[in-house]
Amino acid sequence: MRKKIVAGNWKMNLDYNEGLSLFSEMINMINDEVTGKQEAVICSPFIHLHSLAQLAKGYPKVSLGAQNAHQAESGAYTGEISAKMIKSVGAEYVILGHSERRQYFGEGNELLAKKTDTVLSNGLKPIFCIGETLEEREANKHFEIIKSQLEEGVFHLDEEQFGNLVIAYEPVWAIGTGKTASAAQAQEIHAFIRIEIAAKYNQELANSTTILYGGSCNPKNAPELFAQPDIDGGLIGGASLKSRDFLDIVK
Ligand code: PGA
Repeated sequence: MRKKIVAGNWKMNLDYNEGLSLFSEMINMINDEVTGKQEAVICSPFIHLHSLAQLAKGYPKVSLGAQNAHQAESGAYTGEISAKMIKSVGAEYVILGHSERRQYFGEGNELLAKKTDTVLSNGLKPIFCIGETLEEREANKHFEIIKSQLEEGVFHLDEEQFGNLVIAYEPVWAIGTGKTASAAQAQEIHAFIRIEIAAKYNQELANSTTILYGGSCNPKNAPELFAQPDIDGGLIGGASLKSRDFLDIVK
């Protein structure tokens, strides 16, 4: 059985104290809800990570993640944060290739492939985001786009490296818009991703890869989405900023 994950993506929200109080408010309850082969992950801004990781000690089902990392190991890259730094404060995951990074910061598949390598070689697990825009879906290009994002972003990895990856399918038209993909639309893409992984690697690896859905996921639509056979949890933006909503999604 593959791991089920609900990951919160706080994006650029919450100052230091607000972040600590939101996390403190929910960590206990989340840890109690998450059992067996399940995990809850909070992907906070960099400034919170160290303190949140300290608070999360003693809650083995709650992990921390960053939202980005630089592709270089270290050096003269003013303002950037390395994978090694992220690892050193106790985080385990790094979101890579989020559509906001692709769209506003010009991150393409080639750069993301390098970031994936650096994140993995530092012992962190990428939550690698893929997804089509509305225009691409309307042009019926969604399968093609998903396939190229996989091929160019992560299919250079060997089997062992790929085993440390979490994939997140986030249709760009559903992120922060209140428009969720229907459970059937999401399931169709998740099944397609699994078929592509099986074709590139093998069925066993495809079966054991955690594939999350993201895009306006909330306590109302999560049960139907998460009940789909190929949806293994969610990457939650807006609803991860409210402890009640995030907890209900975890439940
Ligand atoms: P949303 O964001 O849940 O606010 O749509 C999801 C994401 O961007 O990861």
